[in-house]
Amino acid sequence: MNTNEFVINTQGLSKNYNGVQAVKSLDLKVPKNSIFGFLGPNGAGKTTAIKLLLGLTRPTSGSGSIFGQDIINDSVDIRKRVGYLAQEPRFYGHMTARETLRFKARFYYRGPAAEIEKRITETLELVGLSDKADRPINTFSGGERQRLGIAQAQINYPDLLILDEPAAALDPMGRRDVLEVMERLQKYSTIFYSTHILDDVQRVSDSVAIVNYGELVAQASIQDLLAGSQGTIYSLDIEGEANRARTRIADQAWVSGIDVTSAKGQTTWQVSVTDDEVAKAQLLRLVLADEQLTITRFGRKTYKLEEIFMNIVQGGNHG
Ligand code: ADP
Repeated sequence: MNTNEFVINTQGLSKNYNGVQAVKSLDLKVPKNSIFGFLGPNGAGKTTAIKLLLGLTRPTSGSGSIFGQDIINDSVDIRKRVGYLAQEPRFYGHMTARETLRFKARFYYRGPAAEIEKRITETLELVGLSDKADRPINTFSGGERQRLGIAQAQINYPDLLILDEPAAALDPMGRRDVLEVMERLQKYSTIFYSTHILDDVQRVSDSVAIVNYGELVAQASIQDLLAGSQGTIYSLDIEGEANRARTRIADQAWVSGIDVTSAKGQTTWQVSVTDDEVAKAQLLRLVLADEQLTITRFGRKTYKLEEIFMNIVQGGNHG
């Protein structure tokens, strides 16, 4: 059953376009029920990777599976269980949201009409468009159109939603609404979405893969990524002569380094620790064992995704 652990699982998936390596040996592992952010700058290969997953283009090499089924040979079966929102979804502007969803639902679902109408009403509610259901789409804002696009992708109750830059072109309010809809949908399906917006990933994803120049440069849960790859760092501002305390801390087995800066009688330490639990329990007490020392600030340094992203992307370029 371990093939079911990952909804999307690719091995060395690659795509060249006349010498351009749009996707390079991608090993994607998307856990079931995650909101998975596929993050990278424009041109990184995100749309190409999505097209490969959906069987809309063939890989140059490598392979992949969705729900354990092969993305090349089983793509028709796979797509029955996947909802997809393209980067710039097109609608018939004169049709209403309800008509659009009805059209799509009937395409997939042959059940009784009453059942279809119930689904449509529920889905409109889910994406916050109930009050606009019967207006023509050409009166919709960008954010409303994107939410309708998500509704359309969701209407056949897919096990996996693939959304290509669902919030990229939107103003802050539109983005917030779209992200909220995605959070709401997580209880129904796994959500795999591409984006170049770090803030969005930090807000709604629980896992992330970072691509740059077609290559995967990181893949982890947001929590692990934010904890920092080099372990946790505690930051302290100390007043008083701190040298003895420094020796004492440096001697601890769970301390991997202390970075010291001093200015105007105040010393700042960045203490790298290998065991966060022990550090949390002991670090402050060990410093304060020197009674003449005062601590004016103590905290665990948390990384912002942006710092990590920049480190990874720039670090990758040096190599
Ligand atoms: P992203 O979605 O991350 O912005 P894309 O997958 O659209 O990136 O593009 C990745 C790279 O592949 C780019 O250099 C792009 O120009 C190239 N590319 C994408 N599609 C084609 C195509 N059909 N023919 C040739 N080159 C392409």
